[in-house]
Amino acid sequence: MKQKIEGFHLDGEGHWVADLACGHKQHMRHQPPWMERPWVLTPEGRQTRLGVELDCKRCDEVQAAVAEATRAACLEAMTRAYEEGGLSGLCAEGRWELAVDAVRSLNLTEALATKPASARVDEAGLPA
Ligand SMILES: [Zn+2]
Repeated sequence: MKQKIEGFHLDGEGHWVADLACGHKQHMRHQPPWMERPWVLTPEGRQTRLGVELDCKRCDEVQAAVAEATRAACLEAMTRAYEEGGLSGLCAEGRWELAVDAVRSLNLTEALATKPASARVDEAGLPA
């Protein structure tokens, strides 16, 4: 997911880090010959990069994890309602309606509160 650079700061080891609009961070190292970013070494250079969009892999990871957690929560609610409908003696159509209602009324906020750790944004916004 593309995110704009809103600022820069130095990390504890003296490497420049871009502060992205989403709250995540991304190192902007100048380590020739592997990584050439001489612009990051000067305030003027960094100023020219404000507003530039970077691919935020953390946002992609969070988005994918939330999507998977949502799918799992829907499947679980639907399956449970379908089984309960069967135990209650409902016909196939009744069980289906119960399952659809279970997904419609699913509290996703609550369901996603137990999402996997990979979906959580750490305070530093940096990958571990
Ligand atoms: Zn991000």
